[in-house]
Amino acid sequence: MSALKLLAGVLLTLILAAPGCNNEPKPQSPSTPPAAPAYESPLPSLTLPPDSGPPPAFDADRAMQYVKDIVKFGPRPLGSANHKQVEEYIASRLKGDQVEDDVFAADTPVGKFPVHNIVAKFPGTKDGIIIFASHYDTNYPLRNTSYVGANDGASTSALLLEIANQLRGKPRDGYSIWLVWDDAEEAMIPDTERPFLSDSLYGITHLAEKWEADGTLKKTKAFVLADMIGDADLNVDRDANSTPWLQSVVYESATRLGYQSHFFARTLPMDDDHLPFVKRDVPSVDLIDFLYGYNNVFWHTPQDTVDKLSPKSLEIVGSVMLETARILDKMDPLPPK
Ligand SMILES: [Zn+2]
Repeated sequence: MSALKLLAGVLLTLILAAPGCNNEPKPQSPSTPPAAPAYESPLPSLTLPPDSGPPPAFDADRAMQYVKDIVKFGPRPLGSANHKQVEEYIASRLKGDQVEDDVFAADTPVGKFPVHNIVAKFPGTKDGIIIFASHYDTNYPLRNTSYVGANDGASTSALLLEIANQLRGKPRDGYSIWLVWDDAEEAMIPDTERPFLSDSLYGITHLAEKWEADGTLKKTKAFVLADMIGDADLNVDRDANSTPWLQSVVYESATRLGYQSHFFARTLPMDDDHLPFVKRDVPSVDLIDFLYGYNNVFWHTPQDTVDKLSPKSLEIVGSVMLETARILDKMDPLPPK
């Protein structure tokens, strides 16, 4: 994802908060203070189905082992042998599942590259689909460093593999869940040289276009993206580009599991894999803890390593995603988009 939007958000906050600013807007009248930006307003309150059943199961240690396995392959930029090995590793953990490969060639500023999205489908009894997604590639400009993206890409790819374990062999009494390991999320040239959104999100954009054309998006009830949530110091951001009512469901899920203190204390606008779905009116939420290390020093640096992560963080987000699906299953009808 991109830091540029983050910078814009921080600047906006600073401008709004700056005392004595010459351009400070004046309230229209003492009783009508200026409206807060929409993303700073409280999450919408919803009537949600009652809590049901025990918390979702999630094997945090097994998920952490998957992170270590993925990281061991080394940097996995587009077009590399390591990337191919990680594709095979993910596929090997999904043997016997209903898997769809979406393979195409992406035109990037540095040439044509093969892109490989992997989708595992776990059918439910209800008509509709919930998508859980994570990218698995690492940043191309960092390909000749020791950068392995333990948090950025590996943690969430591992989290989805563990969710697959939990879904496998248990018929879902609810919507189908599709797990998406999408490829080529990262930019091919540095953000400083080109706008992030003109050189990124290649894999997920291809899937969104394909699923728009074949009618899948009409059946998609929610798109839930996980990114950079392995951080041992877990503070999942409230993303200003996500669907507010779906964030309310996520927050309620976190609250039911006792994890709400890890969610939404900070609001940031995120450019990430959910945007192609947001643009196509699919309710979408990005679960991301973007600030990684003091001053974000671990993000997109060789310091993004396994020792910064915690199995507990994987468990918190994994079980909140499963609880979110369980609540969505019972919400009838779902709020309008
Ligand atoms: Zn990244």
